[in-house]
Amino acid sequence: MMESQDYMDLEDRWGAHNYHPLPVVLCRGEGVWLWDVTGKKYLDMMSAYSAVSHGHSHPRLVSTMIDQVNRLAMCSRAYHNDVMPRFLETVCKMTGMDRMLPMNTGAEAVETAIKAVRRWGYQVKGIPTDQAEIIVTSQNFHGRTIGIISFSSDKDYQKGFGPFLAGFKSVPFGDAIALEKAITPNTCAVLTEPIQGEAGIVMPPKGWLKQVSAICKKNNVMLVVDEVQSGLGRTGKILACEHEDVSPDAVILGKALGGGLFPVSGVAGKRHLMDVFNPGSHGSTFGGNPLGAAIAIKALELLEEDQLCERSQEMGAYLTKQLQSIDSKMVKDIRGIGLWIGLEINPKIAAARQICEKLAKLGVLSKETHETVVRLAPPLVITKEEIDWGINRIRQVLTES
Ligand SMILES: *Cc1c(COP(=O)(O)O)cnc(C)c1O
Repeated sequence: MMESQDYMDLEDRWGAHNYHPLPVVLCRGEGVWLWDVTGKKYLDMMSAYSAVSHGHSHPRLVSTMIDQVNRLAMCSRAYHNDVMPRFLETVCKMTGMDRMLPMNTGAEAVETAIKAVRRWGYQVKGIPTDQAEIIVTSQNFHGRTIGIISFSSDKDYQKGFGPFLAGFKSVPFGDAIALEKAITPNTCAVLTEPIQGEAGIVMPPKGWLKQVSAICKKNNVMLVVDEVQSGLGRTGKILACEHEDVSPDAVILGKALGGGLFPVSGVAGKRHLMDVFNPGSHGSTFGGNPLGAAIAIKALELLEEDQLCERSQEMGAYLTKQLQSIDSKMVKDIRGIGLWIGLEINPKIAAARQICEKLAKLGVLSKETHETVVRLAPPLVITKEEIDWGINRIRQVLTES
């Protein structure tokens, strides 16, 4: 029989070393729970970076997946299929958008949005050839392609991967004045997360996104909001933009769109932007495949049927209150919205990584981000009792000396 260490050794030997996972080997999941190969049970407070917002192996998603895989899984966009159109309609109606371009992973959808706004810049705004500029926010995370890391401020993401793509300008996240100053006649778009996830659940000042939206409108600049992590109930709304009453020109979706079962992503946007695409201008072999589309439709329907937005608000408030009641010298700040909470750890007292390792030993899975933040983002189906189970263990780790 293979032990945990054997799997880790095997992975270490045959895998590229591009991750630093916690020493846990998982083999089963159900709802908010995960089990490792030794039979130990864990509470999932990570949800695969929000991809598993519906909980592990949601029975209705699993049965949708099995039905569809038995009918038709994949046929490519060389033909139409009888599932994708309803998927596009569902996404657009839920997000208030006009058209959707389906892809598979978050990064691909971000690349798609970059192509859309650049083309809009040339064809509609009249920017001279190859001069289009996109304004991004510092500490952003939009994925790992060469195009995207070209405008990352994290040197770990860039080191050794140049030369990078030109045409991006970075301004501080949450600073509307700097953003407006950075706009030139060649600016085609602003691309930002509404709340920065990988940076450590960083909330912008209230009203910032609304101001950005007004600035974009005034200057004839497209606003593209990356809701890959923040979207689909994570913050208590379908889109985090809704908290600021902002309807951008396009939103980027991914992660939870695939119901925790399958990679599904895409860009949903307003007609004036999405109409820049014509046959041949962009594509993806797997994008819009019937299997992913069927899962995504069900994942979106379940947001309403399982009331995941309401749950995120209620359980997020409960989890936050319980965390605030822990008297710990290690915690500098508790921030977030809905079931998306960052614990900022005082680095003089403890390292976020250490805390995550101790939590894992006690059966709570989280993951540090940027050395000082412990992210708590459980599946949105979590109950009070399950939160209490986790809180007891979190309290133990945060209060031990
Ligand atoms: C995870 C993430 C992405 C990238 O998604 P992948 O599926 O990993 O390519 C893009 N944007 C945001 C905000 C994300 O959190």
